[in-house]
Amino acid sequence: MKQDRIIQNERAPLAASLWAATANDAPDRPALHGGAEADVVVIGAGFTGLSAALHLAEAGKCVIVLEAETPGWGASGRNGGQVNPGLKADPDQTEAEHRRDIGGRMVAASAVAGDLVFGLIKKYGIDCDANRCGWVRSATSASTLAALSETGRQWRARGHAVDEIDADEMARLLGVRHYVGGLIDRRGGNLHPLNYALGLAAAAERAGAKIHGQSRVKQMNSDADSITVTTDTGSVTAGKALICTNAYTGPLADPLGQTVVPVTSVQVATEPLSDNVAHSILPEGHSPSDTRRLLVYFRKDAHGRFIMGGRGALSDKHVLDRQQALRDVALDLYPQLDDAKWRYAWGGDVALTRSHAPGLHKIAPNAMAGIGFNGRGVGMATVMGRILADWAAGCPEDALDYPVTRPQPIPFHRFRRIGLGATVALFGILDRFSP
Ligand SMILES: Cc1cc2nc3c(=O)[nH]c(=O)nc-3n(C[C@H](O)[C@H](O)[C@H](O)COP(=O)(O)OP(=O)(O)OC[C@H]3O[C@@H](n4cnc5c(N)ncnc54)[C@H](O)[C@@H]3O)c2cc1C
Repeated sequence: MKQDRIIQNERAPLAASLWAATANDAPDRPALHGGAEADVVVIGAGFTGLSAALHLAEAGKCVIVLEAETPGWGASGRNGGQVNPGLKADPDQTEAEHRRDIGGRMVAASAVAGDLVFGLIKKYGIDCDANRCGWVRSATSASTLAALSETGRQWRARGHAVDEIDADEMARLLGVRHYVGGLIDRRGGNLHPLNYALGLAAAAERAGAKIHGQSRVKQMNSDADSITVTTDTGSVTAGKALICTNAYTGPLADPLGQTVVPVTSVQVATEPLSDNVAHSILPEGHSPSDTRRLLVYFRKDAHGRFIMGGRGALSDKHVLDRQQALRDVALDLYPQLDDAKWRYAWGGDVALTRSHAPGLHKIAPNAMAGIGFNGRGVGMATVMGRILADWAAGCPEDALDYPVTRPQPIPFHRFRRIGLGATVALFGILDRFSP
């Protein structure tokens, strides 16, 4: 099946995805029909669900994955493809906010997100243009440089290769002198996100997992021994259920969806650039994020297309405006893109949490959810899938690498997206006057 079908069932301004247009072929994965049984049922086939399914199938468990659309349809098939290790909070803060043993395990698990992602790609021969060149974080001001410098210091104190780079080295790596310096996190890199998701799906199937597309779970009923999840055309009864639906959770397992605020992030991409323009931009293939309040992230793909991403908006009109604003930011940074043809424009939903950290939520004695990656899920969702698999395979909760909590709805959740619109507008103004 050609994956340009993958962003069907999507609002038009979010649908013209570069990743869908350049994806590897994948088999049809028909809907679930009738009743089935499994050790574990996984709901949602993004990085979280597919990583969980792969780890469980490798451990010999019988796994069925139910995906409302197709594997990678959600954020996993639409993102910037940056592999960013670590949680949003610095390691000292994470350790201070949790009991020392669990805080330490959270930091350690997030620190090896790059090892896990690039290790799975190597182990299963996933064809996804993986480039472990490091994740560059570019500072726009002295104060943001100081914050990045502190982040680097804390990781280096724990033995990780997160190095400061000065303005000259930043200019060399980016092909533009615009930033005052920053960090290179050598544990990270980038990849073709949809092909990574499709590769995880294929690896999970080879290990014995079954994956059904077009199978939206509408209901979950659990008793002491089992849990049954139901779609329009079938049901699965399993010992445990894993909910991996992130920003697309909606009303499933209420109030789970109210623990996150879905926020649209959008991207635009050009046709392949001419060789001399392509070589003048990000010559070593890095994918930087910068530190303005309304962060932008940019990169080239493996064929020299330039991609710029950033915060989206609620309405279609404002999404189109944001996509145009990203083309303008790209031209400001790299005037040599003047003649480039902007061919792709798409987006998807990021799940923000109140704490800026993902949640591992117990929904029922036999159901667990891992959601809320705050725009940093290529690495951390893959890690969360592994942690969910540990739990489903019988690891005691207090021995997991992440604390288990009950889902706590964000107060006034219904109004959060409106408030967010105002915040985004304010941040845009602040960035203009004090980068
Ligand atoms: C535009 C954009 C750019 C981003 N850039 C980056 C980046 O560069 N680096 C980074 O680390 N992170 C990035 N992120 C975040 C990252 O993509 C996510 O954190 C990650 O993909 C989350 O994976 P997931 O499997 O938890 O969720 P998803 O990939 O969203 O998967 C959830 C799946 O659940 C399915 N589903 C929902 N409800 C049901 C149901 N009831 N029944 C069955 N299935 C259901 C959905 O169809 C969906 O496929 C970005 C996100 C976006 C949107």
